[in-house]
Amino acid sequence: MSGPRRGRDVAVVGGGVAGPTVAIGLARSGYDVTLYEAYKKGPEDVGSFFNLARLGRTVMEELGIADRALETGILCSGLSFQNHKGRWLANNPESSTNIMRGELSASLRGVAIDTGVAVRLESRLSSLSELPDGRWELSFADGSRAEADIVIGCDGVHSEVRRHLLPRVPKARYAGVVGSGGMAEVSDRFKVDGLFHMTFGLRGFVGYQVISPGRILWFENHHEYEERSYTELAEIPNADWVASLVDRHRTDPPVVGEVISASTGYVWRWPVYEVPQLEQWYRGSGIVIGDAAHAIQPHLGIGATLAVEDAYELIAALRREPDVAAAFGAFQALRRARVAEMNKQAERMGALMTPRHWWQRTMRDLVMPVAVKKAIKDNAQDYGYRLHPLPPAGQVA
Ligand SMILES: Cc1cc2nc3c(=O)[nH]c(=O)nc-3n(C[C@H](O)[C@H](O)[C@H](O)COP(=O)(O)OP(=O)(O)OC[C@H]3O[C@@H](n4cnc5c(N)ncnc54)[C@H](O)[C@@H]3O)c2cc1C
Repeated sequence: MSGPRRGRDVAVVGGGVAGPTVAIGLARSGYDVTLYEAYKKGPEDVGSFFNLARLGRTVMEELGIADRALETGILCSGLSFQNHKGRWLANNPESSTNIMRGELSASLRGVAIDTGVAVRLESRLSSLSELPDGRWELSFADGSRAEADIVIGCDGVHSEVRRHLLPRVPKARYAGVVGSGGMAEVSDRFKVDGLFHMTFGLRGFVGYQVISPGRILWFENHHEYEERSYTELAEIPNADWVASLVDRHRTDPPVVGEVISASTGYVWRWPVYEVPQLEQWYRGSGIVIGDAAHAIQPHLGIGATLAVEDAYELIAALRREPDVAAAFGAFQALRRARVAEMNKQAERMGALMTPRHWWQRTMRDLVMPVAVKKAIKDNAQDYGYRLHPLPPAGQVA
């Protein structure tokens, strides 16, 4: 990069997972960072929870933010899989963390503020244009404007940054999956065992963890071929949505219906979208990362981990490489390969979720224990990915 590092203005758009993480690392590298987030919601108002794979925690540890960012997270000591008849299939001992989305974003933004990032809530990006000198002009829905040397789009699957930066890229497409998630209160016969219990139901995939005696976090994913919007799904009365899920799983092991029907409060639901694989993630000094660059199908539960990996590797590349163009090029080459591999694995897992024919289910049930054992034996932890070393802040002139 030409010129001194300090004074380089970075605009990070999106305050979910990737946004605050990259903002923290770049502020520590000496950039002047402003983070723009569309909403001003409290942690309790944003979505349900997600499962952050072990590598997601490792990234946060490397950045020195794990303790605060994951303070409210619940550790999982492994995953346990059963089929639609309640037959145990396999255990995967890889640890992970279940955490409420809103809580994670709020703590990350808190760390960002303490690191010197200017956080602007209720700032919805509406337009982005490149100025003749290569800088960027950002326009917001409230009529305000800002300029920056570097723009990093972390604004999720329907990214506005992507739309302006890479106008020829098609929109995110519906992935044919609806996800739900909630909290349930059950009898204390459900013991806290540290495991995330997964069931390949006949018509949907369900996971739950007992987080304290009688309290459970759960999610459900199922295929729906007709797309229903966020609004359409949100308009369904809560009791009706819960009843429809219980009915969908009526032939599965009774524990599934028991957990879902014991839900307290709102059950979150979303249509799932994916971003077609992009050839190019950046133009000039503007780039997209996280879901904005590569939302994949949800079947591996790896999207949030990929988002923090992106943030980490972009920070590392900007510290390591001589200029922004070299950093973006190196980052893209590295991350496109990683995401392509995860995409393949997510598609394979999606095909196992609810196979149509009995013989496909039988094959899955035979293959799964062997595949999981092999992965453990091959030490294929962290889905085979190793983080690059993080150069110390300020090392590069
Ligand atoms: C049903 C479902 C279940 C999932 N379960 C898991 C799981 O168990 N484990 C896992 O790892 N991943 C899971 N994921 C994926 C995970 O949620 C995403 O991959 C992850 O949140 C991506 O992080 P991000 O920071 O890129 O985007 P997001 O977390 O989506 O953050 C984007 C942010 O940008 C803001 N924004 C949007 N537009 C604008 C704008 N125009 N201007 C300013 N701000 C804007 C949004 O408000 C939001 O705060 C799941 C996804 C779905 C749909």
